[in-house]
Amino acid sequence: MGDKPASADEAARQLLLEQVAAEASETAGLTGCAHFSDRVMRALATVPRHRFVPVEQRTWAYADRPLPIGHGQTISQPFIVALMTELLAPDPQATVLEIGAGSGYQTAVLASLARQVYSVERIPELAHSAEQRLRQLQFDNVAIRVGDGWDGWANCAPFDGIMVTAAAEEVPPALLRQLKPGGRLVIPVGHHHCTQDLRVIGKDAQGRIVSRSVLPVVFVPLVHEGE
Ligand code: SAH
Repeated sequence: MGDKPASADEAARQLLLEQVAAEASETAGLTGCAHFSDRVMRALATVPRHRFVPVEQRTWAYADRPLPIGHGQTISQPFIVALMTELLAPDPQATVLEIGAGSGYQTAVLASLARQVYSVERIPELAHSAEQRLRQLQFDNVAIRVGDGWDGWANCAPFDGIMVTAAAEEVPPALLRQLKPGGRLVIPVGHHHCTQDLRVIGKDAQGRIVSRSVLPVVFVPLVHEGE
């Protein structure tokens, strides 16, 4: 399958956008976002998710659910990708750090909205295939590094926004340090056997940290090698 989805994919993608919009309005009481911005919906409409899932999963590429991508990992549910992107709200000048590149799908959504995206992925095979895919799709504002995202990416810090796409038992201190004043961290916090708490953590101009719980979510664990 090439860049252009077949018309069946196109119809499925349209349906997906409608489902995501409906779910945004259903969860608004918890998330505070009844509508996702046009920018985020456009990013979801244009990033070809079928290119980020394994061939045997392509039938479900535009279903609103997570899918296996190998190595025990998953590509996140599109609604969650949209919600986390909306919460991060990267502007066109933003430098963003993502922890957990996985398939590279969320990376691509962020890269279509921000100036530069850095992503850390601990599984070399996933990092390399995500990098290759993003290069083929001409996302030239992305850098992926193999490593432990618990430590962030100090050389490229500070960041306007940081998104963690795996469940952390606690907020990694390095990520708070690498956030600019006025910046925002979106992260699922909790044990991976339970549902986790999706949080938006802001750092104000004085460096004070303010955290808000948004929604119960389920993510694969953020592996912390130091544990
Ligand atoms: N954003 C991804 C979601 C991938 S699932 C997507 O859209 O496809 C979470 C990813 O986090 C997995 O690929 C997993 O290998 C990675 N991960 C887990 N612990 C990590 C760590 N400590 N550092 C970097 N990546 C990690």
